[in-house]
Amino acid sequence: MVGSPTSDVVHRHAICAPSRGWVLPLSEAPDPAFSSGALGKGVAIELLDDLLCAPCAAKVVAIAKARHAITLELPGGAQILVHCGIDTVALNGAPFTIMVEEESQVSVGDPLIRVDLEAVTRAGKSLATPVVLIEPANTRLEIVSGEGLCVAGDPLFTLRSMKASSADARPDEAYSAQCSVVLPNPHGLHARPSAAIASEAARWSGPIAVALEGRSANARSATALMKLGATHGAELTIQSGGVDAEQALAALTSLIENGAGDEINSLQLSQFTETLPAALERKASAPEGSPQGMISGVAAAPGQILGPAYYLQRAKLQLSETSQGKDIELERLRTSLSQLSAHLQSGNDNISAKISAAHRAILNDPVLIDNVEKRVSEGSSAAMAWQAVMSEEAASLRALPDQRLAERADDFADLEQQLLRILIGQKIEVTAPPGSIVIASDLYPSDLQPLAEAGIAGIATMGGGPTSHLAILAAAAGIPMVVALGKPLCQVEEGETTHLNGDTGTLRHGLTTQDQAMLIEEIEQRRAAHKLAGDHADKDTYLASGERIEVFANLGRVADAEEAVTSGAEGCGLLRTEFLFLDRATPPSEDEQVAIYREVIDKFGERPVIIRTLDIGADKPAAYLPLEAEENPALGVRGIRLGLLYPELLKAQIRAILKAAGERACYIMAPMIASVSEVDALRRMLDEIRSELSHAATVKLGAMVETPASALLAPALCKRLDFLSIGTNDLTQYVLAADRMNPEMAVMLDPMNPAILQLINMTAKAGISSNRMLGVCGSAAADHTAAAVLVGLGVGELSANAAQLPELKQHLRSLTLDKCREAARAALASETSVQAREAAMHILTSASKG
Ligand code: PEP
Ligand code: MG
Repeated sequence: MVGSPTSDVVHRHAICAPSRGWVLPLSEAPDPAFSSGALGKGVAIELLDDLLCAPCAAKVVAIAKARHAITLELPGGAQILVHCGIDTVALNGAPFTIMVEEESQVSVGDPLIRVDLEAVTRAGKSLATPVVLIEPANTRLEIVSGEGLCVAGDPLFTLRSMKASSADARPDEAYSAQCSVVLPNPHGLHARPSAAIASEAARWSGPIAVALEGRSANARSATALMKLGATHGAELTIQSGGVDAEQALAALTSLIENGAGDEINSLQLSQFTETLPAALERKASAPEGSPQGMISGVAAAPGQILGPAYYLQRAKLQLSETSQGKDIELERLRTSLSQLSAHLQSGNDNISAKISAAHRAILNDPVLIDNVEKRVSEGSSAAMAWQAVMSEEAASLRALPDQRLAERADDFADLEQQLLRILIGQKIEVTAPPGSIVIASDLYPSDLQPLAEAGIAGIATMGGGPTSHLAILAAAAGIPMVVALGKPLCQVEEGETTHLNGDTGTLRHGLTTQDQAMLIEEIEQRRAAHKLAGDHADKDTYLASGERIEVFANLGRVADAEEAVTSGAEGCGLLRTEFLFLDRATPPSEDEQVAIYREVIDKFGERPVIIRTLDIGADKPAAYLPLEAEENPALGVRGIRLGLLYPELLKAQIRAILKAAGERACYIMAPMIASVSEVDALRRMLDEIRSELSHAATVKLGAMVETPASALLAPALCKRLDFLSIGTNDLTQYVLAADRMNPEMAVMLDPMNPAILQLINMTAKAGISSNRMLGVCGSAAADHTAAAVLVGLGVGELSANAAQLPELKQHLRSLTLDKCREAARAALASETSVQAREAAMHILTSASKG
């Protein structure tokens, strides 16, 4: 059921503590006017400070004559009353000084009232200060802070304002509860989370809908949910009705906030998201000057292989168009559905079990099945009705702008085929000769298992995408796969020996015997190199000319530390701490942070662990921070800017890092530095905390160089800091003004662009002349050509994901500093990324041979 929603969530306002104090439930305020909730919902704060500040950005609409209370109006009309103390109207204003004017506009934290605490207490009045939503004006209040100590600026509650989506929209009586939730899933609302939401919704009795931007989907329909096309960060409105509306809402909100079965904690892009831009880049750049017979596609599952091409043909299904009568056709449909559903249960490893569960959810989708049954009732055969509905579903998914969601269309096409085969009693499973490279216009997830069992060597498809379920399954089965090879794939002849490269996303045919011999040797060498790299992973890294290069690991969660150490990490070059701060209602406590940082530091023993302070912002919102949506979150309040705006949050993190390190040296790194004043503020904060804690052990303070300003200001930063680490991911996006999250920009986002190299060169010069540690923790560190150039420019530490370390270390061991410098000079002198890469590669490969 797709219809229009009752309302859209248009704003979320955080209402913060106006002062330091103890937060109490409003029901405990010693005045029935407040405790009964008659004046509105909210909380009370037992004041510990004499200054009351604005809890949100708003207009001052009323100041009580007795100066003890102020009413603020938010955009949209909601009004908040800040009432200083209980029964304080009787004090006739004596203890209060008003610091704003009526009709003035205030920002969060602006002073409102100064209160003489002693005078209030002497007068026998309570200092419990209600902060109450007296005029909801279409808003819904959600308490954020529980009881306990708060400081001014801590979030107390959130107001979600609702606005009628159109002039004639009337509230839908069916829904009595509603709230909004930000979708945390990196791949959006795809099949698996949709299925999880649909099955949770099925447990409740009333109507439940999920709405996005004016469109609403029945929450019990996984397909309708998928068709919303909700991508990561989308603000969904959940609406529920019936006797259990509130419980259903709470259950669904929590399910969605926790990823609905998807891994959402790690901030590192998942392997699939990373594959997409990199692969698109390769697709765009491969053809020019590439060997004859090379077809460029998109890498979907890693590995390379040489084998005979085998065209997989599907027999056309002969469907019966005539209905045998409604009852017979419905019966056949239902039996086939349960047969297919039962067959899908057989997935045993984790990923295929999840995919099977998503497929089962599609088969159990009440809306979808209703549609098919309706067609059957109108006279279609079961087969024709099924085919029509499933191809419509697939077509509407393919039309979605988000590629990852569009790739879910294959799941529908797959189920369409599988059910049709059952309906017509044709049990054909695909097969291919062992060792072959299977070529197909497209393949479905259900094809993978029989093909893997047949022992195929690789898969090449004309269409498809790297995040499809088929690609996930192929990667899990260790079968190299390249997708989106397009029409040129038809040039490959059946049986001809073909080279499939799932690392670069290419397929090469028309190979001479000599080409084949070279490729076999290359593949063998790669296998041997891979093994050698693994065998030497635990050794420190020295260039062939003897210079030490530190190879560190980037971590995005605690669990990464173990893998990093076993992969030979010589330290941690970047601990992304965001995982601790996101997807939760309150910030992590200092103790929780201490425990986590300590666990990571302990894992690394004597080796350095660089902990980056939180890098969140409007693009990665934290529920407990009053962050407004921003037009350009990448250019807004993120990284150090956010830390300095919410100093208590940053201070708690710094305290936790120092405590976790204890007597050991610790390394603190700030993200998104763009000015020296930010560094100065951070240094002051650190010094204050160190003296507060009497912390005497070594603390190295560093900054990420990921804004053009920080690279240009590197000499000034070096004066103030102990180390710099270049974040090439952001540096590239900001220098080239190309959004790193936009796959269309992937072609541009090459850190080997000479413009970026110039900035890295400037940074390196500053680091060298002031003898500061200089590292790179962006993904350029793991790009072998770029890594050599970075070393040539003077970078002494490279930090990459754990899985990339053994080969990176081995690669560095094959280089001399002179060759790296020569490659760097050539790249710097180039005019384009392609030229820079080619020039550097030319020098480096001649080095390894010579
Ligand atoms: C970078 O920007 O290069 C970096 C390492 O930081 P992140 O990817 O976490 O933004
Ligand atoms: Mg960054």
